Amino acid sequence: MAKWKEFGVDLSESSSAAPTFERLAPAKPDERPKDNICYMCDGDNNLKMLVTVQTDKGPVRLCGPHCYFIMYSA
Ligand SMILES: [Zn+2]
Repeated sequence: MAKWKEFGVDLSESSSAAPTFERLAPAKPDERPKDNICYMCDGDNNLKMLVTVQTDKGPVRLCGPHCYFIMYSA
């Protein structure tokens, strides 16, 4: 769980997500910024539902559990 925090995982509703985006962006400079884009549906991330998953491709931001399950079922 500590590793999640290193990548700016924010699963709480109250804390600000803005600073976490800046920490995430340099992690994958070769890809388009997805700090506020859902990896699955390209939609804007709902900050209340934001889920960041650590994968073999690096941290992936999803707009919510919906796309989280899509990714794991794919
Ligand atoms: Zn999505």
